[in-house]
Amino acid sequence: MITESEMPHLRRCVELATQALEVGDEPFGSVLVSGDGTVLAEDHNRVASGDNTQHPEFALARWSAAHLTPAERAAATVYTSGEHCPMCAAAHAWVGLGRIVYVSSSEQLASWLSELGAPQPPVRTLPINEVAPGVLVEGPVPELAEEVRELHRRSFLS
Ligand SMILES: [Zn+2]
Repeated sequence: MITESEMPHLRRCVELATQALEVGDEPFGSVLVSGDGTVLAEDHNRVASGDNTQHPEFALARWSAAHLTPAERAAATVYTSGEHCPMCAAAHAWVGLGRIVYVSSSEQLASWLSELGAPQPPVRTLPINEVAPGVLVEGPVPELAEEVRELHRRSFLS
């Protein structure tokens, strides 16, 4: 269950996605929070450089492998504006991170891109649990998903 106290983390993800868009990148943002609720790290998409693997969820998985013990990783939650792609879901599971809460699903993203006439990603938009069956996943969050949809619309039109 997503509690009211978690909403600021999800709003921060949307804010980071907005920042990414404003610096010419794709609108995705993510926050890593420890088991006791402390924000440990955050990032947004950095694919504008030409490296399409620079997703925030991948960056947070690597950060956690470098800085957290296995127990700390398992207790942590990753909040994210868009559900992890298969690459990031795999990285999340390989480093043993805990729960994921996303604002909008990969299924929503695929349908929004399709409505916009935008190209689909080169990697299938599978649900996280198709890639990483042991991860507790929650989302989407309808009250924020519309904001993410609008960011993708702006991103495609820009
Ligand atoms: Zn990804």
